[in-house]
Amino acid sequence: MNGEHPLKPADMPIVRDDIRTGMTAEAIKNDLLENLYYIQARIPKLATRNDWYMALAYTVRDRMLERWGMAMESLHQSSRAVCYFSAEFLPGPHLANAMMNLGIYEQTREAVAQLGLNLDSLIAQEGEPGLGNGGLGRLAACFLDSLASLEIPSIGYGIRYEFGIFDQEIRDGWQREVTDKWLALGNPWEIPRPEIAYYVPLGGHTKQYHDKQGRFRVRWVPAHVVKGLAYDTPIPGYHVESVTLLRLWKSEACESFDFQAFNKGDYYGAVEDKVASETISKVLYPNDEPSLGKQLRLSQQYFFVSCSLQDMLRIHHLAGGAPDAFDKRFAIQLNDTHPAIAVAELMRLLVDRLAMEWDRAWEITQNTLSYTNHTLLPEALEKWSLPLFQKMLPRHLEIIFEINRRFLEDVRLTYPGDNERLRRLSLIDETDDRYVRMANLAAVGSHAINGVAALHTELLKETTMRDFYGLFPEKFLNITNGVSPRRWMVLSNPGMSGLISDALGESWICNPQDSISRLEYFADDAAFREAWRKVKQENKRELARLIEERTGIVVNPESLFDIQVKRIHEYKRQHLNALHIITHYIRLKRNPSLDAPPRTVIFGGKAAPGYVMAKLIIKFINAIAEVINSDPDVADRLKVVFFPDFNVKNGQRIYPAADLSEQISMAGKEASGTGNMKFSLNGALTIGTLDGANVEIREEVGPENFFLFGLAAEEVLDLKAQGYNPWASYERNDELREAIDLVRSGFFSRGDRDLFQPLTNELLSRDEYCLLADYPSYIVTQDKVGRAYLVQDQWIRMSILNVARMGKFSSDRSIREYLEKIWRVESLRAAGKQENDKS
Ligand SMILES: *Cc1c(COP(=O)(O)O)cnc(C)c1O
Repeated sequence: MNGEHPLKPADMPIVRDDIRTGMTAEAIKNDLLENLYYIQARIPKLATRNDWYMALAYTVRDRMLERWGMAMESLHQSSRAVCYFSAEFLPGPHLANAMMNLGIYEQTREAVAQLGLNLDSLIAQEGEPGLGNGGLGRLAACFLDSLASLEIPSIGYGIRYEFGIFDQEIRDGWQREVTDKWLALGNPWEIPRPEIAYYVPLGGHTKQYHDKQGRFRVRWVPAHVVKGLAYDTPIPGYHVESVTLLRLWKSEACESFDFQAFNKGDYYGAVEDKVASETISKVLYPNDEPSLGKQLRLSQQYFFVSCSLQDMLRIHHLAGGAPDAFDKRFAIQLNDTHPAIAVAELMRLLVDRLAMEWDRAWEITQNTLSYTNHTLLPEALEKWSLPLFQKMLPRHLEIIFEINRRFLEDVRLTYPGDNERLRRLSLIDETDDRYVRMANLAAVGSHAINGVAALHTELLKETTMRDFYGLFPEKFLNITNGVSPRRWMVLSNPGMSGLISDALGESWICNPQDSISRLEYFADDAAFREAWRKVKQENKRELARLIEERTGIVVNPESLFDIQVKRIHEYKRQHLNALHIITHYIRLKRNPSLDAPPRTVIFGGKAAPGYVMAKLIIKFINAIAEVINSDPDVADRLKVVFFPDFNVKNGQRIYPAADLSEQISMAGKEASGTGNMKFSLNGALTIGTLDGANVEIREEVGPENFFLFGLAAEEVLDLKAQGYNPWASYERNDELREAIDLVRSGFFSRGDRDLFQPLTNELLSRDEYCLLADYPSYIVTQDKVGRAYLVQDQWIRMSILNVARMGKFSSDRSIREYLEKIWRVESLRAAGKQENDKS
């Protein structure tokens, strides 16, 4: 990047160098040196790169804290604030993003250069808080970015995991998990708030009694109590005066020792409770799609929900609000069912603690809460066994039974005699053992339920939540996901963003939906197309360098970069992509003069440590890569790369370098996807199925600029209803048979015919995700991609049109929809304007 666009301080008002938090290079340099002395306790001569990074981080943070005061005040004064409850946040590295948003990128570069340092190497020093698995956590982070940029009074609430998602290494082609130690070198972005702490009870039993007014009450007598401590991270908006707050909870023991046990000489017993309490926020569960629940996971969910609700009640109280007006002050969004226990916990706090009447408490709870569904996979719907629930949250179970009793009474009136429906709607699953159904709890306790893409919401209404839709259709709505154009375009793709800003000005950064479409005119401008091609080329060269550094594989930056990065999952069908590679390889071997562009197929993504098939798919890709990359016959025609440790930081280098985006999940399985949006916003064309938000992306960019293939969701259902036979697909298609037979022969496993048998057996016998059914149309469509890529000028046109038509997929648009349709919260900007209008 050469000093100019687009990270320059556009319209930042504060330019003072006479104070610590001034925005000039001089002020930044002085603050940086001060922080190096007074926080890192280093002199420049002895400072390590990490010392400088830390000092710089504090320097940038200083400039956010100035805005922090205002943000906190607005939280206390605003008429209503948004609280986003999420068990995962995947914000990515903070430093560069914060500099961009504050508008101090170039001054900082200058300040750092004056000290003989390189800004990019300090930025590279930062790891990332991996407090999420993938799309869901990243969505929460994009939403905070938009909430901050739109100046919405808001708090993100979650868990401060000591160990986030594992780091992935590849050894002999297999995934190896390495503990993520993101806090090891200190976290300069968070501010511990030991005085903001709450007690969270667990276990024990309940007692009924009558209070002084003679009312029936219940008291929970817990077996133990843990303490939650707040850690705050400021989230800056883009070129605005405010920051928003990410408040994460760390668990601790209430007392450091059980001194009675200690005095009796039971040292280990005495520390045990401390250890158990601190375990709660110790580690993130690394499953992308949770299955049957573990006790620790339920404690994590309850722990952070209870701390957050207690915190909100405190804020409300401090601002002089009565409990009765809680729902006027706050809107809570539940990011999936992970925080769904909030329904019962808010009831408990209002009824047991604040002595509110049940009916009023229920109104407040429903008015406050809304629920975002993220999955249709029935096996991924959270449920907790009754005995486990009873043991950990006895009072909540009583409350859930009471909610259920009242709810089913209403259902009986609506559908007299329909016991089957009653069983399906019940908050308690009684089919085999008894379970609490968290999605049902969230649905009943919320006033709004949304899916995350148009298709997903329709399927939700027709299948997974059909009975609820029948009961209260007015609660259901769609809000299609989005991503932050700041992090995923301006920051990660400065070259392309600079071109767009040169052409259109900068309004697209905060308002792509209104302004980026003007880029369409530039698709016909040959000079612009050439500049566009050069930027993409440079991004590809950068990624090629990184690939060589991380994997040793040398790839040709002129080749078609065909990329699939996302969690490894059978439904996402990375192995379908692999089958295409094998077919393409066989064709190249047979016909060296095949008319197809050189391709580099790049994969990235983590597999859940317990997901055997996903880990085998990683090995499969690496095995294919090993054979193909060392075959001189195809050396300059085909390369395969597995890029290790896909995370936000790596994503920022990968998405901007893609020519082709692989969005090939089986239709009906991907709720929305957000990777699909990041690719397309960075000028990649998509090969994809009609799944999740692909449907809407295709609508926006136009079918002629999107490579569609495969069965639609309904066709998948039909096929399965008829009795899908993958073996027939295998026999019918010569190339498919050849590809699978080659795998079975041990060709990619040094003669070992057993290694990939679990994979080929699944495909040939069951093929739950219909790879073999979709294979022929996938191959035909990949051929189309290859031919289209050969006509470079036309390809670049399509690339520009993709970006020009993707404005809808800014997370700002998603957040505006949440604001209007669910939260009914006003931007501070709007509120401020009204104040000004009045005066
Ligand atoms: C965007 C993103 C995802 C989600 O990708 P999908 O393709 O939507 O599954 C997962 N992980 C990271 C690090 C991301 O940035």
